[in-house]
Amino acid sequence: MFFGGKMGAVTIYKRTDFEAAHKLEGHPKCGVLHGHSYKVEVWLTGTPTGPWGFVSDFGGIKEYFRQFDHSDAVITKSAEILALEAAAHFKTDNVTKVVVRIWESATSYAEAVFDEDELSTKTRR
Ligand SMILES: [Zn+2]
Repeated sequence: MFFGGKMGAVTIYKRTDFEAAHKLEGHPKCGVLHGHSYKVEVWLTGTPTGPWGFVSDFGGIKEYFRQFDHSDAVITKSAEILALEAAAHFKTDNVTKVVVRIWESATSYAEAVFDEDELSTKTRR
């Protein structure tokens, strides 16, 4: 193993984006079908593992969000819920902390944090 079996935690960062239709049923503004150029930032802290010493494969992070990109499916969830679901997805055995920030516009984001066993969100609008 690396460094005589002693392994420190490493944080990796990935930025990606996707374009999607959005509708929040019943919301006075977002209840009308519209779209977003979502920007995504992900921080993963954990122990590098596997043959390449990855905390997580950068490509896997991009791949997760590709499911939403230019999809026929309209997103009916808030950025908060999208961030929480993504954070839960990226919380693997070797990862101790996950931060997922989803920008819905240039000025608004929702951020989900999975720290040890605690999952939480905060929002800036
Ligand atoms: Zn929207």
